[in-house]
Order: sequence, then C-alpha cells, then structure tokens
Amino acid sequence: MISVTDFVSLPKVDAHNHLNLGMRYASYVPWAGFYIPDFPRKMSGLEEMHDVIGMYTRTRTRTAKDAQDLITLSIQDAIADGVTILEGSIDISFVHHCNNNIDTFLTMIEKILSKFSNSITFLPELGMGKTFDKLKIKKWAPACMESGLFKSIDLYGPEVMEGIDEFKDIFDAASRLNIKKKAHVGEFSDAKSVRDFIEYFDLDEVQHGIGAAQDEKVIEFIKQRNVRLNITPASNVMLSAVPSLEEHPIKKLVQSGVKVSIATDDLLFFNRSVSEQCADLVNAGLFTKQEVITLLANSVNDYKK
Ligand SMILES: [Zn+2]
Repeated sequence: MISVTDFVSLPKVDAHNHLNLGMRYASYVPWAGFYIPDFPRKMSGLEEMHDVIGMYTRTRTRTAKDAQDLITLSIQDAIADGVTILEGSIDISFVHHCNNNIDTFLTMIEKILSKFSNSITFLPELGMGKTFDKLKIKKWAPACMESGLFKSIDLYGPEVMEGIDEFKDIFDAASRLNIKKKAHVGEFSDAKSVRDFIEYFDLDEVQHGIGAAQDEKVIEFIKQRNVRLNITPASNVMLSAVPSLEEHPIKKLVQSGVKVSIATDDLLFFNRSVSEQCADLVNAGLFTKQEVITLLANSVNDYKK
C-alpha cells in the first residue's frame, strides 16, 4: 500500500478547485457552526449535491467576510496537502456578498493574494455559473478580467450547448487578455460535447472531460490541441459519474497520451486531497507510483512556459 506521505512533499497543482467548497469538512464545521447530516456521503449525482448546497452551504455564506473566510480556509487546506500551485475558482456570485461592489470584491482578492504570497502560488480563476444572472455576469466579468487578478476563467452548469452563446464574448475577451479559458464539460456528458465546447470556446483546459474517453477520435482531437483535462477522480466516484475508482477513465486517457492533472473539485464534499487521490489511484491499480510522480511533475511544468 502506497501512503499519502509519498505524495505530500512533492510539488503539486490543483487546477480544479471551487474555493467556496474547497476546504475540509473538519475545517468548515467550526467556521459554519453546524454539522451537515450524513456528510460527506456518496451521492447519486449533481442534483443531490445541489440540494445540500442549497440547504446548507449557500445559505451560510452571507457577507464579504464569509466569502473571504471560505477562500482562506480552502487555500490553507491546499497548503496543508503540499499543493504549490492553486488555480482556484472564485465564483462571480461572490460579488453579491461584497454589496454588489466590484472594487470591494477585487480588493478582497488582492488581500488574500498578499496574505498567501509566500506560502503558495495562488492563481485566482473567475468562476461563472451558467444559471447565474447573465446581466450581472456581463457587467462584472469584463471588469474582473481587466483587473489582471484572474489568470483563468471557468464556465460551469448544465453540460449542454444551449445558452453557451451568451458567454462567447467573455471567452473572446479572455483570449485577447491572455487569460486561460476553461469550462466544465464531460463530467456526465459525452465525448462529442467535450469536443464541441473545446471548439466553440477555444478552450485551453477542460474541467472533467472524462466523457472524451468514449471516443478515440475525440481523444486524438484533445491531444492535437494539447488541451489539458483537470480530472477529479474522487468527485467522479462520489457523484456516481463513474462506477468505481478502479474503472475510472483517467487511466485510458493518460495511456492515450492526453495531458491530465489530478484535482479536488470540492474537497468539502469529496474529502480527498490531491495527495490522497494520488495514493488512491496507485492503490486501486490504475498507475504505478512513478507514473503518478511523472504526472504531478508534468502538471507543475505546464506553468513554467
Ligand atoms: Zn468542478
């Protein structure tokens, strides 16, 4: 059995981490002041997860201080796992908690950046939910991107083409500003949708993308475009996107030569850090320890260009 300690001290990337839910449950409870019943637990899918979010975590987040605390807890737990580069997503709805004031929101992020500047490379990512108020996104996203604080953007929500045209201008602006473009797709959706999203937004990276493993042509397409998939094995098992870790398509994708990173998604819900998942993947027989070490190093090297 490989243990977590084999990976904690190695430099690591976490490039798929929603910072509002990126902390350990043990870190969250004392801050929140309550327990979530029967939690963390394996879920039947995103709907069940969103029930918990709606009932507990979203309602607990009210003020700018709350938003700042959540991000801070998530960064601290990333540091505790030996993550050295955290490309963590800050949901644009947090502007709400900053009294709808974009300057307050940006100042909060600057403060967090300076607090952790000596302990981790924190690269703020602007997270946008497809179901969030589009008028607000259109108003706030350009200012966020032009601030220079955000190194990447990420779009999430239902994995369908419908409605994504509303975000095309934002992604085009990201290209002009040299901001990395990412979107959630292929978590529950198929290979074609992964390809469609990559083409439509000219994505640099995909959050999840595991649906691509079903189609050799799409695998080849991803390789040719040199798109990285930021894969979250524990999340996929906990949300029943894959039947078990042993059957996770990350093995096939890596063996096919697709660039991947191992990430946490929502540590609060899935409770496996990057290092823990590295050990899990070796112990489940998907990779050797050396293969995981190479994968981690390659992910870190992606940031040296
Ligand atoms: Zn995610």
